[in-house]
Amino acid sequence: MFLDTINEVIDLVKKVSEYTYDELLERAYSKLPTKVRSQEAFQIPKAEIIIVGGKTVIRNFRWIADYLSRDPKILQRYFAKELAVPAYMDESQQLVLQGRFGAHVINKLIEIFVKKYVLCPTCGSRFTELKRSGKVFILKCLACGAETSLQAF
Ligand SMILES: [Zn+2]
Repeated sequence: MFLDTINEVIDLVKKVSEYTYDELLERAYSKLPTKVRSQEAFQIPKAEIIIVGGKTVIRNFRWIADYLSRDPKILQRYFAKELAVPAYMDESQQLVLQGRFGAHVINKLIEIFVKKYVLCPTCGSRFTELKRSGKVFILKCLACGAETSLQAF
């Protein structure tokens, strides 16, 4: 009985020592909640754009919306409003905009969107919710609890 326990401990030590330091770090890191991990790595996302005929396609549109934790429909309306053109999501969830727009224009709009509709103006956290309430959006911060009302579109 006692010997069994000793052997188990030896096995365990062997197992642990089979990992390199990097592997152990990687394992520990992978157990962190996603929020903590993505906070360090947060960057304003960049659009992948192609021009097809007279249309501009944001290929990674769905990824951008997911990355920012925003409803793709709101982001779609935002682009349509800012560029004053029709916009729709195709079957691959790419955003198709009527007209030709350069990457710098699209990326600038994303940057403005992030600053206005994603980041908390009080504490700067990216962990917020955006909800429509009548004629306004409420930007609610999940980090500090601040609520900011913004004109809805
Ligand atoms: Zn906040």
